[in-house]
Amino acid sequence: MENYNHGMRDTMDGKNMPMTSVSSGKGEEILPDVYNFTNQIVNLCFVGNAEHWVLVDTGMPDSAKTIVEEAEKRFGKGCRPRAIILTHGHFDHVGAVVDLVEKWEVPVYAHEAELLYLTGKLDYPEPDSSVEGGMVAKISRFFPNKAVDLGNHVLALPENGTVPLMPEWKWYHTPGHSPGHISLFREKDHTLIAGDAFVTVRQDVLYKVLVQKKEVHGPPRYFTTDWDLAFTSVKKLESLKPKTAVTGHGSPMAGEELQNGLKELVNKFEQVAVPDHGKFVKGDQNR
Ligand SMILES: [Zn+2]
Ligand SMILES: [Zn+2]
Repeated sequence: MENYNHGMRDTMDGKNMPMTSVSSGKGEEILPDVYNFTNQIVNLCFVGNAEHWVLVDTGMPDSAKTIVEEAEKRFGKGCRPRAIILTHGHFDHVGAVVDLVEKWEVPVYAHEAELLYLTGKLDYPEPDSSVEGGMVAKISRFFPNKAVDLGNHVLALPENGTVPLMPEWKWYHTPGHSPGHISLFREKDHTLIAGDAFVTVRQDVLYKVLVQKKEVHGPPRYFTTDWDLAFTSVKKLESLKPKTAVTGHGSPMAGEELQNGLKELVNKFEQVAVPDHGKFVKGDQNR
């Protein structure tokens, strides 16, 4: 096993954050083959069954053990996924990825435009803790922005929109929150894994994160660097008419609550999602 970490560097090592929500440690079967697990303040997904499953996103730093235990609870001892798919490379989605790749020896796939941030070549901009919003926005300056380095263990998703080892799913490029952000969609039952393209909790407000107050909301503000693209991405996802959605933060949503929430987010994106000021907000001289 020691050879398998060849070429990887774990910048998430020791970066654990003492942040949590009431849902932390809870798992929920959204559909027979889609399982949402909340790790502290972020969600990850097990897609598939015991014979064939894929992990989507890898939670907070230092959480590999928790994720492995949860997977074994669901799929049995010694189970491992066929692959890991990353919606994007922010610390709360790649926290355990290096440890998990070492343990499971599986390939990781992400959008080509995200690879620089997954191979240690480029760090994300510092989170904007000045962004208008609540307590999580304020403490976001302690969030690591350093790229992990998966070396050649991470591969670009195929250009034709297919998702390796997830035959029923397609990936959609949903940039704005990060350059290579993707969402996953399954046409047959309109299931969406949205990552942080939109979320179902107001992630910058601590109280709402703690109690996971449910509302369709734009991407977490402190990390979102391009609001025009973020808006285009939300419109793209709304137009898919998802029936069930799991997002990077907040509780899963379905049916009318989801569709109405998305419609409203599209209609009021400028007012409710885009912060009035912040270093990534266009025309803001106040930074
Ligand atoms: Zn993110
Ligand atoms: Zn996130």
